[in-house]
Amino acid sequence: MKSLIYTELGKVQEGDTPRPEEDVLIRVAASGICGTDVKAVFKGHRYFKPPTVLGHEFYGQICKAPDGYKYPVGTWVVAAPYFECGKCSWCRSGNPDLCESKHYVTGGSFAEYVGIPEGYEDGLFQLPESGDRDVFALTEPLACVMNGIERLKITKLYSRVLVVGGGPMGALFAFSLGQRGIDVSIVEPSEERASILQSWGIDVRQQSDIKAGEYDNIVIAVNKGALLSAYMPLLRQGGTMLLFAGLPSNEMLSIDAGAIHYGEVCLTGCSGFHLKNFKDAFETISADTSRYARLITCRMGFKDGQKAFDMLSHAQAFKILLGSSF
Ligand SMILES: [Zn+2]
Ligand SMILES: [Zn+2]
Repeated sequence: MKSLIYTELGKVQEGDTPRPEEDVLIRVAASGICGTDVKAVFKGHRYFKPPTVLGHEFYGQICKAPDGYKYPVGTWVVAAPYFECGKCSWCRSGNPDLCESKHYVTGGSFAEYVGIPEGYEDGLFQLPESGDRDVFALTEPLACVMNGIERLKITKLYSRVLVVGGGPMGALFAFSLGQRGIDVSIVEPSEERASILQSWGIDVRQQSDIKAGEYDNIVIAVNKGALLSAYMPLLRQGGTMLLFAGLPSNEMLSIDAGAIHYGEVCLTGCSGFHLKNFKDAFETISADTSRYARLITCRMGFKDGQKAFDMLSHAQAFKILLGSSF
């Protein structure tokens, strides 16, 4: 089958890979390029070594399934790329996103087909028969954002949330918090990005203009540890700081201990999602597809895969969808 193969550090190329052998197959319609994919290609990743096929933010149509399967051939679905086992100690102790026995789909989604293993029905969500379906490629990134929102301490009518970083994840925080009527601003230094965010009705600020105590929730959505130290003194007492962007495990961060003890601020973090987040994200997008569709600024075929990755590494697009038929 046609795929976009990550061949060596910095390079992706259209090529052929074996079709997954599962009894249930999804023919991928479109797959979003995630920040993690970009990082894996240009900086390397401990789990994704070349040659491999990346991609996990996808939707498509069931094209092979046994008789009596919950989603018959022809059904449009979005699939969670993984979900928790529900049985291990992490799942039972209320931390399903830390599950160490997750179920996974087979293969990366920058390909024509993705395999769905047995017993994976809970990870599939049926899409409408008509209308914009591309927007559902955003379900996985929004699920990660839902996981982050779950960790904030939001008091309706009072809370103000500041998101540091106006990339696709920052924009998803603003869209979904805005949809719930919560006051949110984004800090984005790039003028180009800032003006696009503003055209979507998002309040954009500069770090130097923010006064201490204005925000009771701050989300760090840029992978620079120093931002945590810079924004901690600005967080309102009793507030929550969420370390959302990925940082290396051995990186040491410096923060004022007094903020935690006397200021009673809470420092937390998360990565990935659990199934409830994915379901929430699916319902959130379904309720207002046009709000989210704005984020998809490009659709490209596998032959232009390298160009797509290069554009994202220079922040020249928000979300790019790849597809074998684009
Ligand atoms: Zn992703
Ligand atoms: Zn588990």
